[in-house]
Amino acid sequence: MGYVDLHIHTTASDGVMSPSEIVRYAKAKGLQAIAITDHDTIEGLEEGLSEGEKIGFEVIPGIEISAEHPPGSMHLLGFFIDIHHPLLNERLEYLQNAREERNPKMVEKLNQLGIKITYDEVVKASGGGQIGRPHFAKVLVEKKYVRSFQEAFDRFLKKGAPAYVEKFRFTPKEALYFINEAKAVAVLGHPNTLGMNGYSELENLLLELIENGLRGIEVYYPEHSPLEIAQFKNLAEKYGLLVTGGTDYHGIEKNGLNIGVGRGEMRLPYSMVEALKATRNRFFQTGR
Ligand code: AMP
Ligand code: ZN
Ligand code: FE
Ligand code: FE
Repeated sequence: MGYVDLHIHTTASDGVMSPSEIVRYAKAKGLQAIAITDHDTIEGLEEGLSEGEKIGFEVIPGIEISAEHPPGSMHLLGFFIDIHHPLLNERLEYLQNAREERNPKMVEKLNQLGIKITYDEVVKASGGGQIGRPHFAKVLVEKKYVRSFQEAFDRFLKKGAPAYVEKFRFTPKEALYFINEAKAVAVLGHPNTLGMNGYSELENLLLELIENGLRGIEVYYPEHSPLEIAQFKNLAEKYGLLVTGGTDYHGIEKNGLNIGVGRGEMRLPYSMVEALKATRNRFFQTGR
């Protein structure tokens, strides 16, 4: 049995490899399965799934939804999502429209700051997929307004910085609802970004999410400390939640991070996928 990586981005959101490229790459790296989990979009899934079929590699259709959570950022993963589900498609379209309103406002703010950047340039940087702040950062680096991607975020794009514009988000309850409607197994992504003050605050939040359809926690994640991993594992056991993990690979070796292995520390067994499948089969009737 091989290893898996259950958190991967493609050009459909802000990754740099196309769905086919990432699937081939994962296979070449010797993995047994990956989940494609683009931000707020399923546009890469059809291509990723069909490439997987073509080359004989298991691809799990997934998504990563940003939910409203003022203390920090809450990302909800959905595994085995039904890409044809009408409510899901309607909700995602709503998010796309919200982005299309937001992005030109960020261009405007940058222009007001004296930065010559056009919406077209950002569209080009996105490679045709959904547009987000990483694409703005790319253009700012290319046009030498900043020296690095991180500087672009720190000076202009991060929350509270001068070119930042708020993006519409569904509440956790709303997001969990449509993830479940689309027969996906809902998992709390990288809980270390929630901005929770201690174990019991996280525990209370988890209880609320479980009531609304959460079924797992992403315990293994490159930015989690050993202590956090132990805490998240503990909470998963306490509440009978699934344990998942992934690298959040975006197609570039950022600080030595790579698909499947993270910074060398990750070994996620295929049994994680089997547990997800068992949960899916228990809660959702599927023809798949
Ligand atoms: P958006 O969807 O446009 O809000 O962009 C969100 C993406 O921007 C995230 O998935 C990260 O990849 C990236 N990002 C957000 N905040 C930061 C930050 N402070 N530093 C670097 N990258 C960030
Ligand atoms: Zn991303
Ligand atoms: Fe995330
Ligand atoms: Fe991610």
